[in-house]
Amino acid sequence: MRPSILFPLFADITSLKGIGPRLGPLYRRLVGEHAVDLLWHLPTGVVDRSYSPKIKYADRDRIVTLTLDIVEHAPPKNPRLPYRIIGHDDTDQVTINYFNAKGDYLTRLYPTNQKVVVSGMLERFRGGWSMSHPDFVVPVERAGDIPRFEPVYGLTEGISGKMLRKVLAPILEKLPDLPEWNDGALLAREKWLGWKEAVIAAHTSKPDAGKDSLTSDIRPLTSERRRLAYDELLADQLALAVIRRHLGNSGGRALKGNGAWQKKLESALPFALTGGQRQAIAEISADMAAPKRMLRLLQGDVGSGKTIVALMAMLQAVEAGAQAALMAPTEILARQHHARLTEFLKPLGLEIGLVVGKSRGDDRRTETLARFADGSLSLAVGTHALFQDDVAFKDLGLVVVDEQHRFGVNQRLQLSDKGRGVDILVMTATPIPRTLTLTAYGDMEISRLEDKPAGRQPIDTRLIDMKRLGEVIEGVKRQIAKGAQAYWVCPLVEESETSDLAAATERAALLGKLLGAGNIGLVHGRMNSEDKERVMAAFAGGTIKVLVATTVIEVGVDVPNATLMIVEHAERFGLAQLHQLRGRAGRGTDKSVCLLMYQAPLGEVAKARLTMLRETEDGFRIAEEDLRLRGPGELLGTRQSGRPEFRIADLALHRDLLDIAHDDAQLILARDPDLTGERGMALRVLLYLFERDAAVRLLRAG
Ligand code: ADP
Ligand code: MG
Repeated sequence: MRPSILFPLFADITSLKGIGPRLGPLYRRLVGEHAVDLLWHLPTGVVDRSYSPKIKYADRDRIVTLTLDIVEHAPPKNPRLPYRIIGHDDTDQVTINYFNAKGDYLTRLYPTNQKVVVSGMLERFRGGWSMSHPDFVVPVERAGDIPRFEPVYGLTEGISGKMLRKVLAPILEKLPDLPEWNDGALLAREKWLGWKEAVIAAHTSKPDAGKDSLTSDIRPLTSERRRLAYDELLADQLALAVIRRHLGNSGGRALKGNGAWQKKLESALPFALTGGQRQAIAEISADMAAPKRMLRLLQGDVGSGKTIVALMAMLQAVEAGAQAALMAPTEILARQHHARLTEFLKPLGLEIGLVVGKSRGDDRRTETLARFADGSLSLAVGTHALFQDDVAFKDLGLVVVDEQHRFGVNQRLQLSDKGRGVDILVMTATPIPRTLTLTAYGDMEISRLEDKPAGRQPIDTRLIDMKRLGEVIEGVKRQIAKGAQAYWVCPLVEESETSDLAAATERAALLGKLLGAGNIGLVHGRMNSEDKERVMAAFAGGTIKVLVATTVIEVGVDVPNATLMIVEHAERFGLAQLHQLRGRAGRGTDKSVCLLMYQAPLGEVAKARLTMLRETEDGFRIAEEDLRLRGPGELLGTRQSGRPEFRIADLALHRDLLDIAHDDAQLILARDPDLTGERGMALRVLLYLFERDAAVRLLRAG
């Protein structure tokens, strides 16, 4: 249960003072569900109101805070003119302008012959000083109400900065004193404030000296932000480490093989395994043989040969007398895997069953399921239908999950919660840099295939101006006449007004006109999965020659005959994404070409990015570069899922902290595995603070 010290911070955001039923949904969308989310909604900049010059000597076009004697009100004769108020100090006078103002309100705000303090942008107008709609106006006794440094927040229509600051102020004032969960030596070395002081500082920090007074960016590298980022990263790393330990301890089983099936398969292969494949197989094999539950990620580019590695693992399970299943993200991929694995297994005389979506009265399916249940069939491939209620295995020992995209930490927990003690191997073609594997897969061991199978042809990658679309289409026409097939990728279909986007639908229509409508297929994200699979299958079968698509083909099928990859508006894609798309072509033995079409003019950075892609096929190098240039959201697809995984930490900027947090988490659990010591109890608070509740539930009560 959440510790009571955190209750106020987890109050529903709509229950806070200043947020009613009308603003509730707006705040929810802008910051989140709870009061604590306001704390994580850190300022993006700060306005410096500390500049209080005498009027005569003031800099123009700068935010100033002035103490004025009010001498005169001049209501406008014409409603289009401003209401003017004249005030002065002992050096000069200033005219304060209000457009569409109510006189009553202003006479109360600016009583004549009294002193008021105003803060706003000071300008020169027709040889005089002026200020329009000051941000603050207070009687001189209340000058202290004007913040010297005013934080600027990300806002939304209906919520002003003033409103947000008002809601936030009492929360900051009543912040609980949380126990310190960080190591004293680390705090001393980094000279970090305590949590409470750091939160307050992060919301009230001053701009960097010498910066423009209007707003200056708050860099995420201030000491207080680093402390908070560290807290968040530590919570995450600790949670992952707890989950991993839990999975490791929870009834794994030793799947030891005698190597007989594996040897048979290897000698029947028409090729030799690469060094990387051997290494990965050895790592997986050792994991499976150990009594712990395996949780391993196999990373390798499209075409690096992950399937055979998975099959070797599956055979080890069979050697050990257990069953193994491979789960694919789509039905067509499952069918494709099934066909290929059947081919590989033929010389061994082994069968593999296929399980896809339910279709009633399917005798084949019924028979397959019966054989899984009685153990006469040891190998399975399918979609998530494999884990529907009516599917039972006699003794499932290994699950391989192909493509991790829809398979996050929660699913990993769920699958293992089925209590079968199965080993889990996840395969992904996303080249994820080490920084990100620590966060996205910190609970998993990792094997990487960095070498390519021999004889693979490099893909000829070219940059082409969109203006040459006509030539490109001519080229495609020649290629399909020779029997080749092509992928044609357009950026996502967006709402109407973004007319410069080459909408996939329009492109398909044009290509249909020029190349024959029957040759063209279209898949996009808004299609239902059945329609999508139908088109994909027609492409894989060769009836469709050109597959026009949004990026749905990322997790796509293998079509060895597809040797052309055309990407429109390549400048709008992430590098890692382009790299994966490119990998879809080049699955066969023929030379492949990838055309990256761009909209001129290309900026320096965009040009550098695309050029890099032309020069290397090293997915990990590309991913590192992508992380540097675009941040982690693009790589892990958090953009689509709405709120980013981290509220404060920025993985591109706080890498050093991530490494420390990773080591710290290991050390913490080694010393106090159930977090019951003094620091352990503080760390439990930290886990709740960052909503890593699932991890706390796995700890023994403290
Ligand atoms: P991935 O799943 O990593 O994208 P696959 O496992 O589908 O890649 O392998 C791509 C192709 O390379 C397949 O046709 C596969 O049979 C072949 N292949 C796998 N390993 C090797 C190897 N060591 N040498 C040659 N070809 C290989
Ligand atoms: Mg694959």
